[in-house]
Amino acid sequence: MMLRSTILAAVFFISFGGGAASPNELAQRDRVSKIEAADKPFDQLSHQQISEAGKAALGIDGKKWKHAEADHFIIHYQLWDVKNRVIREAEYYYWKIQDDLKLSKDLANHKSHIFVFQDDDGWNAFQAATGQHGIAGVTTGDEFFSYYPKKKDKDFSGTIAHEMTHLVFNRFFTGRPPLWLNEGFAEYQAHNAFQSLFGKRLGAINKDSSLVGQIDFLKMTTWTSYQSNMSVNQAFYVKAQLAVGLLVDKGGPERFVQFINTMIQNPDFPAAFNRHYRDIFKDTDKFLKELARKEKRL
Ligand SMILES: [Zn+2]
Repeated sequence: MMLRSTILAAVFFISFGGGAASPNELAQRDRVSKIEAADKPFDQLSHQQISEAGKAALGIDGKKWKHAEADHFIIHYQLWDVKNRVIREAEYYYWKIQDDLKLSKDLANHKSHIFVFQDDDGWNAFQAATGQHGIAGVTTGDEFFSYYPKKKDKDFSGTIAHEMTHLVFNRFFTGRPPLWLNEGFAEYQAHNAFQSLFGKRLGAINKDSSLVGQIDFLKMTTWTSYQSNMSVNQAFYVKAQLAVGLLVDKGGPERFVQFINTMIQNPDFPAAFNRHYRDIFKDTDKFLKELARKEKRL
């Protein structure tokens, strides 16, 4: 199923601990730094069956698009050369998620697509063509459409880290988890992956966690759309990230993957929680108390 999975109107960053890179991380950093993706014509790409949104994208200033690919990603870009920068990060994040969650079976039978718009005109035209407004990036199934103008260069790795989590997630899981789990995991993993690749924390951008304590977590787990109030929406990302962090840190990756699969089947948080986390937290009250403690430390 092709589903839009994110709106990146804002990206939120919470600090995590540092630490030296492991030998594995160093080896992977070295591996991806050597990736050289060669440009090739569209009709020579290993996968050409793009969605309607993908076709709309490539229809905008059609002659300007260039294409390149690496192990798991195909990139489409228009202006200055971003292919190696984006694809190296994407491949690193792919490895990192797989490694963190101990995932072994990539279910996708083709590479994921990354479309990079590098000027306002193109991005505005894409949003108009697909009926979206005011977004900075969107992941739909196996395609990620991104807005990456020169002025955004510094922030872009954080955006890639978040969106790659969605793209890679969609390769390893069939079906979609509820919104809070999808976004919470993308935020949580983006921080881990960024720290792992660059050896430093993601900087804070527009972080507004002031309303985190006012959101009812159990209610939030039933939300199926983003909140129109920007502050509530930001707090939603932060709270979801903290909750995912608590589950992963306390229960470990294997349990968390089982929890995700249960939530994909049935998005009822208390039911999935009782099935997988009762022996860790006793009950949801205990979990909510620990979550509140984490929120106070923000
Ligand atoms: Zn997202």
